[in-house]
Amino acid sequence: MNPIDPRFKTIIEPFKLKIVEPIPFTTREERKDLLERAGYNLFNIPAEKVTIDLLTDSGTGAMSVEQWAAMFRGDESYAGASSFYRLEKVVRDLTGFPHFLPVHQGRAAEKLLFQVFGGTGKIIPNNSHFDTTRAHVEFSGAEAVDLLAPESKDTQVSHPFKGNMDLAALADLLAKEHARIPLVCLTITNNSAGGQPVSMANIRGVRALCDQYKKPFFLDGARFAENAYFIQTREPGYADRSVRSIAEEAFRLADGCWISAKKDGLVNIGGLLAFKDDGIYEPLRNLLILQEGFPTYGGLAGRDLEALAVGLMEVTQEDYLRYRAATVQYLGRGFEAAGIPVLKPFGGHAVYVDAKSFLPHIPPQQFPAQAFAVALYLEGAVRSVEIGTLMFGRKDPATGQELPAPRELVRLALPRRVYTQAHVDYCIEVAQILARDKHLIRPLKIVSAAPILRHFTARLAPL
Ligand SMILES: *Cc1c(COP(=O)(O)O)cnc(C)c1O
Repeated sequence: MNPIDPRFKTIIEPFKLKIVEPIPFTTREERKDLLERAGYNLFNIPAEKVTIDLLTDSGTGAMSVEQWAAMFRGDESYAGASSFYRLEKVVRDLTGFPHFLPVHQGRAAEKLLFQVFGGTGKIIPNNSHFDTTRAHVEFSGAEAVDLLAPESKDTQVSHPFKGNMDLAALADLLAKEHARIPLVCLTITNNSAGGQPVSMANIRGVRALCDQYKKPFFLDGARFAENAYFIQTREPGYADRSVRSIAEEAFRLADGCWISAKKDGLVNIGGLLAFKDDGIYEPLRNLLILQEGFPTYGGLAGRDLEALAVGLMEVTQEDYLRYRAATVQYLGRGFEAAGIPVLKPFGGHAVYVDAKSFLPHIPPQQFPAQAFAVALYLEGAVRSVEIGTLMFGRKDPATGQELPAPRELVRLALPRRVYTQAHVDYCIEVAQILARDKHLIRPLKIVSAAPILRHFTARLAPL
């Protein structure tokens, strides 16, 4: 995977190390004990007891030498900091939107946006709302509607753009309910659908429907660069275009965007809101001052603004995106070759294990995906996250029975620029052990759980 010389297959990370962070090692005995104390919930395991941490790709990336250098230039002036103007120019060049508000992370932008656009009786369509987006839409009193394209619902069907919006369903919803729809959203890549990309043709289709009904169109662009990379490599007509220009085109089809910069901003904290409409600038700015901070820093330090300005430039570098996609694919293929079924095609930031087909003998009520995640930690100190019945199931209030989630997935998310091919090889070796010794994977039951978002704090025990 040398970008210049196709004779070489090794994924050369397009960076070398200048600062190293030791990773911890623990014994299997120690981890057995840690799991028991953690109630078999990986959120309760201290990070210093995790060797390879694939819990999330959010805010867990490594900054570059240029980003660290830029942080020293951070202007910490309360008002009018030069760091703000530097970032504003980067955001304007990338998105084309004249208005820009910095926020401390993605959900802060969502909170502002849906205070202005949400409210009781409103409907907000999206290809798939990310969980914090849905929470803010619903908190405002509005209804969050997911309109995922039909090909995306089958985990085994291969399609280049499984993150797409169902345009026919959007047209239908707009025809029936346009009076209740204040804006249309589209998430690129589609996180909730497995980091699957959205095609430019689909973005254009949403634009056309929004024009027809005169509705503003906002992109949730947390992974805009990964999405643009997939358009370049998979969509006819884009192979000769730079990822940068593809990202610019996508933003210019919308009326606004919000970005959790903890993903493709390549920073550990940060976010932004950018848009065209002069009419919503003042209400959004006033809420920003109330909830985040003065508009030229918005909940971030000047040095954070600087790191983000550099990160937004670095993230569209094609060597980096090629390495990232190749690493996700390499991890996924390794699991597949070991005999562990995974979602296909591979998305931009993570590999998803289909625990339902891997462990048919463990019913959803006994949490097969959590059982797999626990075994991955017990055997190899690799931390992943369950996206199945522990996360999305609930107790039937009438019968007390566990109502299962539609899928039993385990997500292994890759932090940006953190792990090397050797780390990934190690994870694959752990997977080979689990594939060979399925009996190591033990069903679980819930001991105690909170009524909402229970997966963060629930305690479990082996059956
Ligand atoms: C992470 C994320 C958010 C929320 O951002 P935070 O920075 O975690 O608050 C919103 N949408 C998408 C698609 C995300 O991936």
